[in-house]
Amino acid sequence: MYAYWGKILRVNLTDGTIKEEHFDEKFAKKWLGTRGFGIYYLLKEMDPTVDPFSPDNKMIFATGPLTGTTAPTGGRYMVITKSPLTGYIAMANSGGFFGAELKFAGWDAIIVEGASDHPVYIYINDESVEIRDASHLWGKTSSETEAALKEEIGDKRIRAALIGPAGENLVRFAAVMNDEHRAAGRGGVGAVMGSKKLKAIVVRGHKRVEVADRAKFTSVVKEKTDKLRNDPTAGGGLPKYGTAVLVNIINQNGLYPTRNFQYSQFEYAEEQSGEAMAAKYLVRNKPCYACPIGCGRVNRLPTLGITEGPEYESIWALGAHNGINDLASIIEANHLADEYGMDTISLGGTLATAMELYEKGLLKQEDLGEDAPPFRWGNTEVLHYYIEKIAKREGFGDKLAEGGYRLAEMYNGVEYFMGVKKQELPAYDPRGAEGHGLGYATNNRGGCHIKQYMISPEILGYPYKMDPHDISDEKVKMVILFQDLTALIDAAGLCVFTTFGLGADDYRDMLNAALGWDLSTEEYLKIGERIWNAERLFNLKAGLDPLKEDTLPKRLLEEPVKNGPNKGHVVRLHLMLPKYYKFRGWTEDGKIPEEKLKELGLDEL
Ligand code: SF4
Repeated sequence: MYAYWGKILRVNLTDGTIKEEHFDEKFAKKWLGTRGFGIYYLLKEMDPTVDPFSPDNKMIFATGPLTGTTAPTGGRYMVITKSPLTGYIAMANSGGFFGAELKFAGWDAIIVEGASDHPVYIYINDESVEIRDASHLWGKTSSETEAALKEEIGDKRIRAALIGPAGENLVRFAAVMNDEHRAAGRGGVGAVMGSKKLKAIVVRGHKRVEVADRAKFTSVVKEKTDKLRNDPTAGGGLPKYGTAVLVNIINQNGLYPTRNFQYSQFEYAEEQSGEAMAAKYLVRNKPCYACPIGCGRVNRLPTLGITEGPEYESIWALGAHNGINDLASIIEANHLADEYGMDTISLGGTLATAMELYEKGLLKQEDLGEDAPPFRWGNTEVLHYYIEKIAKREGFGDKLAEGGYRLAEMYNGVEYFMGVKKQELPAYDPRGAEGHGLGYATNNRGGCHIKQYMISPEILGYPYKMDPHDISDEKVKMVILFQDLTALIDAAGLCVFTTFGLGADDYRDMLNAALGWDLSTEEYLKIGERIWNAERLFNLKAGLDPLKEDTLPKRLLEEPVKNGPNKGHVVRLHLMLPKYYKFRGWTEDGKIPEEKLKELGLDEL
């Protein structure tokens, strides 16, 4: 087999056993990598109803066949587990360099099972694998942990996937961090790592990934890299302004959720845009492994010095979502969230929920404590104060650490939680892009934009421009195509930002050249469809009630937009959802029928 090692590492933290397992080409052709491998093992080996924090929950750290190759953005890995935030599948992916290093060490994936009774880290140096004590690292932030590991191991070139204090303290939206500022952020995967007392996985590899036809692969990679470089977004806007290039675009289009989605345009958007950040703070951009796009930002702040980020989503979540305008405070807050190790989208969403609960009088100052900053829209003090409290689960931070849904439930204001399946929504108001709304509602991991980025066709015009308020069959089919395509791109080990410039045929070309296979685009998309359905199957087995939970917050379905170009619109989900189920080949109540399971080869799971 090319582009794979065919090797999976299994580490049991309860009894300390370490095993090497193998897979063959038939398995690879069925599941491809990352999300595919992860969902296979979870469905095969785990009861989907387990408590996410129990030792019976498994965590899979998986690469794809293109991870560690020279394919553009080929550095991704994914963490797959049962989410403590949603109770359903979590698959959080990250760039940086950890994924590629894991591949260089000769492993395609790691299955972590059980739980240790004291803090540990896993140290992988090619074939050599050890479980080491991490008691001295417990409590350290992301950068402190990484520095301490480099010092202790005596090798500056190690890469680590690790948790900060938020993960240790089981904050339900804690992230797994790597390369200090890269995060497998969503769904609380860092908290599952914390529940296993696993502080870090450290890797050092010395191998090279072999592809089927080196000359052909190099020429295909060059062609696709050129395509990305020549694209105005992948080769222009993203390298120049980072993902924050979207702030002005999305705000001008009237989709920039403001004050917990009460408004859809922010009066101060320009001051927190990618353009403003580049003018004031940018030192340089920073690409992940093998990435020609380089959307990562390295910024310098007088108060803080050098830091990385924030991304578009983080600027919004910690900014407009909470009515906050001060870009320097947002950058500092993002830095803190990285150091403590938490997902900035859910963090910002949880704070915004608290803001509205406070505004509506459901949450009172006495609930917060006399000296705690009040949740008033635009109060920057809230950011720094509560991020630390959340990470340490101190005072009111303990309640915020439960995430926006559970917080809103505690204060009788569930309608003010802006999320899907208990996960906070990202930075696009779907009343201005209704296909994106259908994507949110049907996403296997809850409120998430990235697994079906319908903003591409509806706003940015990739692969072609679609009317954001069209809800025709074509739109619904596009949502499904984007979901399956994203599953394929993730499973391959690439970054979804390559969709600015590349289409489904381009991924087929790279995969076939690397793997020596001759699969058609349709066959690759079928793998994406299989992964999507397998994740759905996991959710159904975990107790998902589709007709109740494939939905959006009431506000987005019933309250028309108050300002901007989408004024008067809501999401007409009730007209799209039945079509979505039908085109997916599911039942009218959102279940997967036996014949569909058979068609996708999921009937044994
Ligand atoms: S586009 Fe950005 S996030 Fe994606 S791999 Fe490149 S630098 Fe990383």
